[in-house]
Amino acid sequence: MSLAHYFKELDLGEFNARFSKPGQCLKAIADEKWQNGYICRKCGHTNYCEGKTPFSRRCTRCKSDESATAHTIFHRCRIPITDAFEIAYLVCSTEKISSYELSRRLDTRQMTCWKFKKRIMECIEHGTGLHLFEVGGGNSAPESDA
Ligand SMILES: [Zn+2]
Repeated sequence: MSLAHYFKELDLGEFNARFSKPGQCLKAIADEKWQNGYICRKCGHTNYCEGKTPFSRRCTRCKSDESATAHTIFHRCRIPITDAFEIAYLVCSTEKISSYELSRRLDTRQMTCWKFKKRIMECIEHGTGLHLFEVGGGNSAPESDA
């Protein structure tokens, strides 16, 4: 099941219990990203070992390292991963939540929330809700400065 669908079935208490720590979020991203198995993006090799950062994977052939967040909407996210997850959760579970509401709830700048929400919505639309965390082609990442 994709995280986008998974989020819809969690209430806020369940969400907080499962994703209150950075490691829990990174693991969920890694599980989602490599749910069909690991394939090195550089050489296509399928064997890996642990990479440098938590839940990253390193190709055992070409040694290239892919972090859990690379190629996802969470890549180079300037806000804490737990906050980013909460925004993703709220956007997926609460239809039409505004960036002002997100800003108030997370005590994060409205523009940051707006940008990140937009990125999530694009992923939901382009991936028909199934590939929320794969960024298709683009390399833009949510940033807090603008
Ligand atoms: Zn490789």
